[in-house]
Amino acid sequence: MVDAATISQQQPAGGVQPDAAPEPYYLPGADEVEVFTQCHAQGLAVMLKGPTGCGKTRFVEHMAWRLQRPLITISCHDDLSASDLIGRFLITHDGTVWQDGPLTRAVREGALCYLDEVVEARQDTVVVLHPLTDHRRQLPIDKTGEMLQAAPGFGLVVSYNPGYQRMLKDLKPSTRQRFVALDFDFPAPEAEARIVARESGIAEPDARALVQLAQRLRALHDRGLAEVPSTRLLVAAAQLAVRGVELRRACVHAIVAPLSDDAALAAAMRDLVDATFV
Ligand code: ADP
Repeated sequence: MVDAATISQQQPAGGVQPDAAPEPYYLPGADEVEVFTQCHAQGLAVMLKGPTGCGKTRFVEHMAWRLQRPLITISCHDDLSASDLIGRFLITHDGTVWQDGPLTRAVREGALCYLDEVVEARQDTVVVLHPLTDHRRQLPIDKTGEMLQAAPGFGLVVSYNPGYQRMLKDLKPSTRQRFVALDFDFPAPEAEARIVARESGIAEPDARALVQLAQRLRALHDRGLAEVPSTRLLVAAAQLAVRGVELRRACVHAIVAPLSDDAALAAAMRDLVDATFV
């Protein structure tokens, strides 16, 4: 089953509450806004590749707002079944009723459907996306015999982190070749500092220092740090600092501790925190 934590829905700016939805802040890194806009206009499915916490989800939220489409987000995991995406018959006291899954809803409503971390889903689940990614733009619902044509405005977006569990999980070439891919990475230092300052309200010099720390920590990747600090972690540290937690302590709690349980690596990271905020 897909629970509420797995799916989220964002209404378009012109939807339920006109003009109420604020623009999700997104600082572009390159030409991704333009390319995505063209993909949407042409009905092409889009794959966002990049490390966790680098802005992929924010980008999709921003694009849904720009394109004035509702956004339905599905967090993928290995229990996710085709029925979780498409729908199922439910037994009620009046008999059985069909209930659309989130993918079917998006196809009917002409929403953007965003499958986050799509490699986490099993192949037999991912394969239901295939007919939606070619010129047919159809979703066959075997259980009801319906062949659903995607409503205008429907867009399929998936994300995945190529560095994560690379040997264990990967997308099949037959799936990959159905998407236009946009490469994401952590923003350039100046841009990342702007984002951290804007998202948290921290002063620019402190935001720049946090980014400098992040760059030093990211260099530890070669020395065994499996996951490097994301922009999301920098924003979290900055939010703590803005609310009165001493900056070094904020970095230890929001950046160092989440990244590693290894005592030696954590000590090396704390040394870098001290060296950055002397
Ligand atoms: P991902 O989906 O790649 O795991 P998110 O989109 O959730 O990452 O990004 C994490 C946070 O980083 C966002 O909530 C936002 O605060 C910040 N962020 C990262 N990149 C950008 C960007 N280019 N513009 C605005 N905010 C960004």
